[in-house]
Amino acid sequence: MLKTEAKNTGIADAPKQECSDISCPFHGGLKVRGRQFTGSVMSAKMKKTAVIEFDRLAFISKYERYEKRRTRLKAHNPDCIGAKEGDVVKIMECRPLSKTKNFVIIQKLGVEKGFKDRMEAREAAKAIKEEEKEAE
Ligand SMILES: [Zn+2]
Repeated sequence: MLKTEAKNTGIADAPKQECSDISCPFHGGLKVRGRQFTGSVMSAKMKKTAVIEFDRLAFISKYERYEKRRTRLKAHNPDCIGAKEGDVVKIMECRPLSKTKNFVIIQKLGVEKGFKDRMEAREAAKAIKEEEKEAE
């Protein structure tokens, strides 16, 4: 395979590690374009795919206020990046890689502080909700 220079955008630096993934924006032929988001990795259990989650604000015109919405996206996780649960990553749009995957991780920005606590709190809140439902 031709070594494709990190032609892609120059938005992120190529990872130090090399990989042989053809769907890698740095070492493969995958082109990136379009939208870009930063979020936390919620799950990296799938092969070369990670679930990224981030909050956004949606304007509700009736109340002239914003409400918080949560977005979950699947993104390609190339070997050279290898993001794990709790990592904060930058993702960018690419061609559809599968039915639900149109993004690729282009940079690992760090580890989210208190990710475990956040997940535990969310689990606890879910359990309380379930209990309330049962009580009804
Ligand atoms: Zn790579």
